[in-house]
Amino acid sequence: MKEVILLKCGELSLKGLNRRNFESVLIRNCRRRLEKLGQFKIWSAQSTIYVEPQQEADMEEAEDQLKKVFGIAALTRCAVVEKDFEKICAAAPEYLQQILEDADTFKVEARRSDKRFPMKSPEICRELGGVLLEAFPHLKVDVHTPDVIIYVEIREQGAYLHPDQIPGAGGLPVGTSGKALLLISGGIDSPVAGYMMAKRGLEIQAVHFVSPPYTSEHALEKVRTLCRKMSVYTGRVSLTVVPFTKIQEQIRDCCPEELFTVIMRRCMMRIAQQIAHETQCEALITGESLAQVASQTVQAIACTQAACQMPILRPAIGMDKDEIVKIAYRIGTFETSILPYEDCCTVFTPKHPKTKPKLEAVLEAEKAIPDLEGLLEEAVRQARQELLENEICP
Ligand code: ATP
Ligand code: MG
Repeated sequence: MKEVILLKCGELSLKGLNRRNFESVLIRNCRRRLEKLGQFKIWSAQSTIYVEPQQEADMEEAEDQLKKVFGIAALTRCAVVEKDFEKICAAAPEYLQQILEDADTFKVEARRSDKRFPMKSPEICRELGGVLLEAFPHLKVDVHTPDVIIYVEIREQGAYLHPDQIPGAGGLPVGTSGKALLLISGGIDSPVAGYMMAKRGLEIQAVHFVSPPYTSEHALEKVRTLCRKMSVYTGRVSLTVVPFTKIQEQIRDCCPEELFTVIMRRCMMRIAQQIAHETQCEALITGESLAQVASQTVQAIACTQAACQMPILRPAIGMDKDEIVKIAYRIGTFETSILPYEDCCTVFTPKHPKTKPKLEAVLEAEKAIPDLEGLLEEAVRQARQELLENEICP
């Protein structure tokens, strides 16, 4: 039986003149996501996007993939039948068999956007209802709270038969808000932050700081895995790896221990900002959550922010750890995030980090690092060489 998937674009409809642009980005994203599953024709008409396989395709897998594409509020997988009532009645029991067998009560809802169809909606409901009752004698009709609703839509292109729509990933199509650079650690929070901002339409590029030999190849591999898992939602992610050892050693050797972390974080921001500029990213993203650790107090954040002119987006700032964990679990990054490898943030951690650092004191302490500017530039230069090797796809 011929099948299509219909996509409803939630927030898109609010965007007035931009709508067409939003739709075309969404269609491109869907196309990319389905690339591996075969040829699909994808087009939009009357605020619905149609996804039609051009040959035999795994529609279950296609639906599964589309459930993770931002910008889709709801999806419906349907059978497409000729606009002939006999044919609709023949197709419905077969196509909806599983779902009707599992239900006790049902009702039929008909929509007739093609008014040339000879039967009116109430008549379609009544007649098709009768056919289904005959085919599944255990069923009862319940018009108020049925277990399932069977929809028949008489559209321009044919008659569409389907059960209730299922919720999509919501949000805005990735790319419609521009591009941002995610500072990704191996932890729980930053992949969730990337997911959350992609949901608001940002294309995500990632940067990760490594400090060999203090951090291992395993730790970097873990971050690659996280990027791949995140990319199931964000779409492809390019990962830049920044060698950070020298800078961290200089901080350790030259600065007061209680300021290690905040100075290190300022260095990360400066490097990230430079990479963002060079790769057309317009903001940075971190997984910071207020007061989670010493470097995430308002005062510490003020010092970090001062190192950077770009907006730093912190979608997890007001979330509790267990709220973040719930999302990590749902998007499939949690298992990887809890693997126990060192991150450069946990190398040389001070015993008593200052929780309320003053910017003047931090700036003063930084002056003790010889040629810090040169060190930062060198790190960016080394990272740049690696960039092309690191496209990560779902
Ligand atoms: P996460 O759970 O994401 O690791 P965290 O709770 O460990 O965050 P911090 O270590 O203070 O918190 O880091 C705060 C943020 O700084 C992270 O969410 C991430 O955005 C960024 N970050 C930390 N370490 C790195 C790193 N090695 N490379 C890139 N970004 C990092
Ligand atoms: Mg963490």
